[in-house]
Amino acid sequence: MNHTSKAYDAIIIGGGLGGLVCALALIKRGKKVRLLEKIHMVGGCQGYFTRKGFLFEPCLHSIAEASANGAVVQTLASLGLDETPAFVKLEPTARFIFDDKIFTMPSNFNDYQTLLTQDFPQEALGIEKLYKTMNEIYQGLARFPERVPIIERYSGLVFQQILDEFVSNKRLQAIISGFWGYTGAPPSQASALLYSAWFASLCSEGSYLPQKGISHLVKSLEQTVIEKGGEISLNSPVKKVLIKNGKAYGISLESGEEIKGETIVSNTDATTTFFQMVGEENLPSDFILQLKKLNYALSSFNVFLGVKNGNSLPHDLAAENIIIFPDDDLDSQYQRVLQGKLEKVPYCIAMPTLQNPSLAPKGHHIISLYTPLPYRPEGITNWKDKKEEYTERLISLAENVIPGLRQKIVVKEAATPD
Ligand SMILES: Cc1cc2nc3c(=O)[nH]c(=O)nc-3n(C[C@H](O)[C@H](O)[C@H](O)COP(=O)(O)OP(=O)(O)OC[C@H]3O[C@@H](n4cnc5c(N)ncnc54)[C@H](O)[C@@H]3O)c2cc1C
Repeated sequence: MNHTSKAYDAIIIGGGLGGLVCALALIKRGKKVRLLEKIHMVGGCQGYFTRKGFLFEPCLHSIAEASANGAVVQTLASLGLDETPAFVKLEPTARFIFDDKIFTMPSNFNDYQTLLTQDFPQEALGIEKLYKTMNEIYQGLARFPERVPIIERYSGLVFQQILDEFVSNKRLQAIISGFWGYTGAPPSQASALLYSAWFASLCSEGSYLPQKGISHLVKSLEQTVIEKGGEISLNSPVKKVLIKNGKAYGISLESGEEIKGETIVSNTDATTTFFQMVGEENLPSDFILQLKKLNYALSSFNVFLGVKNGNSLPHDLAAENIIIFPDDDLDSQYQRVLQGKLEKVPYCIAMPTLQNPSLAPKGHHIISLYTPLPYRPEGITNWKDKKEEYTERLISLAENVIPGLRQKIVVKEAATPD
């Protein structure tokens, strides 16, 4: 079938958080919006699932910028939701576990700086200057597109270069970059500007989780889009953006249906959007060159566990985000990760039920395990064959921190990097 249906002011390809928020922002401006989602539910990476009374929200460990004045809260407050979601500040922000020491990152920046300085007194001045610079970058980026000198100075550099400018101790550098596994690029591979802004935000404002869970927020965004007259079509994969005389005028679905729209917004990744949906023939050559230089960051292997017998974490570890490092050498860890090995790699243990007990049946908890891994590591052609093995190996690693974890498991699921 190939028919063209009615026109919309805006068609949004993809119903992740970005697509849903964009839909509401456009509806607020009086636009007629249609959102097309490939799969059976919206939420994208922030989708969710239930098993035996446990509600798993697999892709959420912490959110930055969710203080009362933060961009997340301000944006949500502007969208006309019935109730602006509340966020709970995590205390501590994280614990970083090394062989010989546990480092706690408190949510208050002064406490954090004091702890860092106590542990690394010879680096005190460097720590102060580093965080001052990172904060200036954070503030500078918020002024985009204004040209700000500090942004121009560090633009194009990697975060490792900022670290090396101010502090030299490798353990200290590893602690400061402690969240690198969440984005899939170590400091030597990651943008100096983005990591500075992210880490500065975590240090100065803390880290948050939505009080009622991310699934509640996703449902609330979806419901509000529909209530306010937007249309959401599930199971509607978009195949092509339709273009005439250099202007997009609609999309075609995999089913063959064509839908016209004045503006097309893509919530999918850049290479899918431009190479598959738009097509190189419709793009300027210098833009194509830039796009071809993009490298995907690491993906991750995740294990989701429902566990019995209450809080399984040793008391001195209680925290939503626990990140375990095999050593201080982040680049060697990254190389091992690229090879798909689960030996001497960083991994994370998160326990969302500490903050939101309603995600699990009474007396139970959710523990999720996460380790960065490539989409397709060397030697792995099909993740399905390796899923069980990696699941068990990740649980074994976690048992170093939570002895007896395996015996407490009542539900077990895993998600491979692909
Ligand atoms: C394991 C993991 C853990 C994470 N942890 C955190 C965290 O703790 N804190 C945090 O802030 N962020 C975290 N993130 C990142 C965060 O989830 C994402 O940055 C965010 O959800 C991305 O939203 P998005 O709307 O931009 O894209 P996506 O969520 O990727 O949405 C894209 C949507 O487009 C749809 N789509 C794709 N192709 C098509 C097509 N052809 N036609 C129609 N629809 C299509 C997809 O199905 C999807 O729904 C995590 C991500 C992962 C994977």
